[in-house]
Amino acid sequence: MRKERSPSEPEAVWKEKDMSGGRKVDAMVVILRTSGCSWAKTGGCTMCGYRSASMSEIGEEELMSQIDRVMESYKGEPFVKLYTSGSFLDPREIPVPVRERVLREFAGCERILFESRPEYITEDILSGLPKNVTLALGMESCDPEVLRVSVNKGFDQDDTARAGAMAKEAGLSVRTYVLLKPPYLTERAAVEDAVASVRFAAPFSDEVSVNPVNVQNGTAVERLWKRGEYRSPWIWSLIEVLRTCAGCGPRIMSSPSGGGSQRGVHNCGSCDRRALDAVERFSFSQDVRDLDVTCDCFKKWKAYCAAETMLGTPADLDRALDADLAVR
Ligand code: SF4
Ligand SMILES: [Zn+2]
Repeated sequence: MRKERSPSEPEAVWKEKDMSGGRKVDAMVVILRTSGCSWAKTGGCTMCGYRSASMSEIGEEELMSQIDRVMESYKGEPFVKLYTSGSFLDPREIPVPVRERVLREFAGCERILFESRPEYITEDILSGLPKNVTLALGMESCDPEVLRVSVNKGFDQDDTARAGAMAKEAGLSVRTYVLLKPPYLTERAAVEDAVASVRFAAPFSDEVSVNPVNVQNGTAVERLWKRGEYRSPWIWSLIEVLRTCAGCGPRIMSSPSGGGSQRGVHNCGSCDRRALDAVERFSFSQDVRDLDVTCDCFKKWKAYCAAETMLGTPADLDRALDADLAVR
């Protein structure tokens, strides 16, 4: 039986490895339950399923209880990553006393990361943040058309660049997220968009994380995917983006959610684990030799990209072909 969700419990807490000060260190990841992203309430981004993690009744008191639970799990990890279902700096989502308590609780750790949309990032707020903060920015793409039509982001790339530059000026670190394969883009166009976006983000980012789309429940992307009009990116595409952008300045990384499943970034099935392990190794080492993986499906990916480009469609040709073979 599914456990009842409590507004006083965080959505999830787990431990993993990440980088801090050039070293691989233990990190605690926290997903707080909140009243939700203000942008999601007006429609939100096409690939975002965070709405399902939010509960409208959550306010300051419930969040304080969640922080109590988080502190029980905290074992002194040097890196703490704190995600909400939206923006940590949105005072409607995280009331100021909660934000202040979090910063106090983790004042002694090497690095604390949280995410915010640029509209909540002001010089005033930044000047009050301690220097162990890494600001995560969900830029997604540097192409205004992609941001408007494919992602429905509600801000543009220059808003992210401004916020990133201000954060650097305030002495903070910046991790920028780039989305790999927003809807309506062919596989080839998605690779080009992600490469251009990483390069755009490089001047104001210490790290750029490439996030392949993972088809989440109840999203516009899921509706396209169910109709066969969307295929999650190939791992080969992710590898190409990482290989092309390696050495462009910031640390380039990727930690795909749902990797190897039909909804997440995937290849043929038999090489997915090896390819994802290679991505993880590279994310730490930054050595492109770690991305050397071989499989017969590499040729299929090449053909897929060429066919999509020729037909001018981002439809899921993989599934279309499988369905066609099944009825014969
Ligand atoms: S991706 Fe971020 S900004 Fe967009 S709706 Fe989801 S939480 Fe809000
Ligand atoms: Zn394969």
